[in-house]
Amino acid sequence: MRARFPDFRLGNVPATSFTATLTERRGNAVERIPTPQRLVDWLAVSGLAVESCTTAQLELARELRESIHAAATATAIQDALPTSAIHIINDCSIQGRAAAILTPEGNRQWRLSSASCVEDALSVIAADAISIIAGERDGKLALCASPTCQAVFFDTSQSRTRKWCDMNTCGNRQKKARFNANQHKNETAARTGVI
Ligand SMILES: [Zn+2]
Repeated sequence: MRARFPDFRLGNVPATSFTATLTERRGNAVERIPTPQRLVDWLAVSGLAVESCTTAQLELARELRESIHAAATATAIQDALPTSAIHIINDCSIQGRAAAILTPEGNRQWRLSSASCVEDALSVIAADAISIIAGERDGKLALCASPTCQAVFFDTSQSRTRKWCDMNTCGNRQKKARFNANQHKNETAARTGVI
C-alpha cells in the first residue's frame, strides 16, 4: 500500500508553486515532497516529468527551493538579496539543459536532456524564479498574510492587493477564524445584554 502524502498546492507560477511544497513555514511546517518519489510526482504534474530521483537530487531540489524562498521573500519586503541564495539559484540555472519546445497546438513544453536529469527540471524552475525576482513579469512578489504561513506568492491581480498565498487554504482559514471570533463576540454580547 502506498503511504498517503500531503497534496500539492499548485499555481500558475512554477517557482512559487515549488516553494509551496513546504507550507506553514512559521507554524507546523508541512513537507509536501518528503521522498524522492514525491518530487518525481510534483515534477510530473508541473510539466517537467523525470523517471527517477535520488536522495541527493531531492536534497539539491530542497536547497534550490529554500534559496528561491529566501530570495523571493527578500524581494517582497524590499530587502537585499541573500548572496548564498543567488549562488544556488544561478548554479541550478546554469547546470541544467532543458529546451523549450513549441507543440503543433502552439503550447510550450520542456524537453529535458535525459529522463533521469532532475537537474534539468530544476534549471527551469530556477530560471522561472530569476524572471519573477528580476521583475520581468507582470505581477508582484508578496507574502501571505497568514502569520503561520507567510509564503511568498506572485500577485497578478489588477490591484496587486491579494493577501493570501492560496484562497482555498490560508484565505479560507482566516475567514473562518474571523467568523468564529465575531460569533463569539455576538454570543458574549447577547449573554451580557450588551449589543
Ligand atoms: Zn498562505
